[in-house]
Amino acid sequence: MPTQPEMPQTPETDVNKPRYVEVALPLPLRRTFTYGLPVGFGHAVKPGSRLLVPFGKRSITGYAVGLSDELDEASDVDESVVKDAIELLDETPLLTAEILKLTQWTADYYAASWGEVLKASLPAGINAATELIITITEAGRNELLRSANAKPLKIQVLHRLAEQDEIPQRELEKEFGDARVKRAVRELTHSAAVSVHQRSVTNKVKPKYRKAVRLISDANGNAERPLTTSQAAVINTIRSAGGAMIFTDLLARSNVGASVINTLAKRGIVEVFVEEVRRDPLTDVEAAAIGELTLNVEQLFVLSEIERALEPNEFKAFLLHGVTGSGKTEVYIRAMRNALASGRSALMLVPEIALTPIFSRRLRAVFGDEVAILHSNLSPGERFDEWRRIRSGRARIAIGTRSAVFAPLENIGLVIVDEEHDGSYRQQESPFYNARDVAVMRASLAGAVVVLGSATPALESYYNAERGKYHYLQLRNRIGNRPLAIAELIDMREVFKARGKDISLSPQLIDAVRETHARGEQSIILLNRRGFSRFVLCRSCGESLRCKNCDITLTYHKIDGRITCHYCGYSVKTPKACPFCESEFLYFIGEGTEQLEEILARTFPNIRIARIDRDTMSRRGQLAKTLIGFSRGESDMLVGTQMLAKGHDFHNVTLVGVISVDTGLGLPDFRSAERTFQLLTQVAGRAGRGDLPGRVLIQTYYPEHYALRYACEQDYEGFYREETKYRQRLNYPPFVVLASVLIKHSDREYALKNANLLKELLDRANKDIACRILGVSPASLARLKGEYRFHILLKSASRRALRETLDIALDEAESRGCDMRIVFTEIDPVNMM
Ligand code: ADP
Ligand code: ZN
Ligand code: ZN
Repeated sequence: MPTQPEMPQTPETDVNKPRYVEVALPLPLRRTFTYGLPVGFGHAVKPGSRLLVPFGKRSITGYAVGLSDELDEASDVDESVVKDAIELLDETPLLTAEILKLTQWTADYYAASWGEVLKASLPAGINAATELIITITEAGRNELLRSANAKPLKIQVLHRLAEQDEIPQRELEKEFGDARVKRAVRELTHSAAVSVHQRSVTNKVKPKYRKAVRLISDANGNAERPLTTSQAAVINTIRSAGGAMIFTDLLARSNVGASVINTLAKRGIVEVFVEEVRRDPLTDVEAAAIGELTLNVEQLFVLSEIERALEPNEFKAFLLHGVTGSGKTEVYIRAMRNALASGRSALMLVPEIALTPIFSRRLRAVFGDEVAILHSNLSPGERFDEWRRIRSGRARIAIGTRSAVFAPLENIGLVIVDEEHDGSYRQQESPFYNARDVAVMRASLAGAVVVLGSATPALESYYNAERGKYHYLQLRNRIGNRPLAIAELIDMREVFKARGKDISLSPQLIDAVRETHARGEQSIILLNRRGFSRFVLCRSCGESLRCKNCDITLTYHKIDGRITCHYCGYSVKTPKACPFCESEFLYFIGEGTEQLEEILARTFPNIRIARIDRDTMSRRGQLAKTLIGFSRGESDMLVGTQMLAKGHDFHNVTLVGVISVDTGLGLPDFRSAERTFQLLTQVAGRAGRGDLPGRVLIQTYYPEHYALRYACEQDYEGFYREETKYRQRLNYPPFVVLASVLIKHSDREYALKNANLLKELLDRANKDIACRILGVSPASLARLKGEYRFHILLKSASRRALRETLDIALDEAESRGCDMRIVFTEIDPVNMM
């Protein structure tokens, strides 16, 4: 705010005026709130502190993002309505200044709530819950003295309170019954006999402590009081363990009772103390002893470029395009070591599942305790401990999945995003953000170097490199000049013609699996994720039915038997015959891949099959076990979905089979070709990583598709050229900016009503027609978890224009009473389902 410099300052302001705090709340609201700071703790609040604040009838945990002595005159906040914060939750702020800045940028860029982004940046379980505390007042004590009848619940409650001063309402409810206590408390509040306030309950995750014992005196007792045999046994046990031991271990090993130890403690021979136990996600991981590798010429060049950029403490972004197996990981590790040596910290992001046990071992071997790991399979306790090791500066290297982009590292010098094209960097729920893009911004805010690495860069990233926004680095060859696996397409139309029935495994693939097994080698079979939506594909010509306007596969809706484009709403009756070849063999894809596993088991009874999918992954440790088992040869075939394609390095795998690649191509998403190309290239990269050559077989009804052709040739450049032409012609990113507004509710009419209002306001806000606004159309998953989903799609050549239109319309919608809780806005949406 431009204030008038000559305005006289009233001298008493600083001392007497209440101070205010700006608080971001973890609610889907695109603004912050002002609270007063009470005398008690107000002075201790700093930006980044968590505060308990009243909001409506509740109190919630918010984040202090700014402090001020006066109310901002520009805001219409009236001093009389400003409420005080209730409690300060942290002595030292959890959030660093850098993270505050980064989350503010993130919220702003994605039109998200700052408070929600802040919450997402902290380890789960750290946010305090609250409880209601009832306290008796002077008036209440007097009422108790006056009352002759002890029967009424009100009086019983007052009695209990008089004994204890204050009691959580929940305890009273347990004692006297929910509804009755609520009523009594209401009445007592009314007569001012009690007061009610909210208090935070301690965090759900806490540091873990345990008792330990250490030797503090060398004395083996003395002449007057010689040691008993059990006492001597205790001391010997501690000594042989190096002078200190965990209490319970000591009990077990010296075979004595606790009293013996306590006596020794009283005599000053041992000391019992409490120490924090670090919950280490890598405890069961032995550090792998890999000798120092000698980098090849390509790796050396790439590394020297990154190291040169690290020197000046300036922002620089690289795109590292290296074929699968070209040794990118080794380059990352060296670069991180370099950042560390120059006194700075480093952050490395990996896709959801890529943090393989093998890779974790390698990290521990190189970085020891300097590395902290943050990923979604950690227990809340482990995550909390790892996070605090980073916050306190004990760990200066953080490796993790999506939300680790907000790891509280200080003095960051290097940010790495491995497999930067990966979809798991995108948060699929509010607050929507793409960790890759946040990572680039983080580096830019911190004057750090960022390296985006991939064998199949996202189209946007390659485009940025082409335009000079990113510096392009390349690793063209596999380590040891191993050839890339040869990929072949199997034309399922031919198989269908020959067999004439529903067949999911081609004879070619069956033979190849048998031959591989006979040679003692392993195979990987990729099942494309079961389609969420159904689309129509012709088994005679392989064409799928697509929208005339958007070139997106049309989604079949059972309710009305029609096929619909969920981008623009175009809809037709499902034809009986293929419009391209007039054959009747229309086939609804999107169901049925589940049975494939059974079919595999039946077809190959002698082959030991291990399986990886969402279910097995959710069981802790199971995934690691399966992968390690497979790498040791305990199974012959690994079957699974997308997650198989990522990062694994199995040397005995010589065959990769891909079943149902068409499911991926048919997803009603403009990125379906890109995703399929990436998936095939990545999965092909799993074959032939050892000394044996690899083979890749891809089953498809549509072998003419350019994504399949280029994937077989491992020709990224060729794919990029063709795909960018398509994107440009149909106005898709990177040539335009997209936003999607999703409206979902269990009541269809209600959802639709709000969607239509939003659409109207968007059209009105789109004054200069700088945006194209498509919809309202049913989302591809028109109904999900009992909710009806509609969406509106915005396209614009200008990010500014798009944001302006959106912001105006959303603000207007809010003031016009549109239900904003059911509206989800996504900027640069990745998964358009
Ligand atoms: P990418 O991440 O590019 O797919 P990796 O980093 O997994 O490739 O490397 C592939 C394999 O080559 C790994 O087993 C790795 O240990 C090995 N490797 C990497 N660099 C070298 C090198 N300079 N010399 C020998 N082996 C290497
Ligand atoms: Zn056809
Ligand atoms: Zn359309």
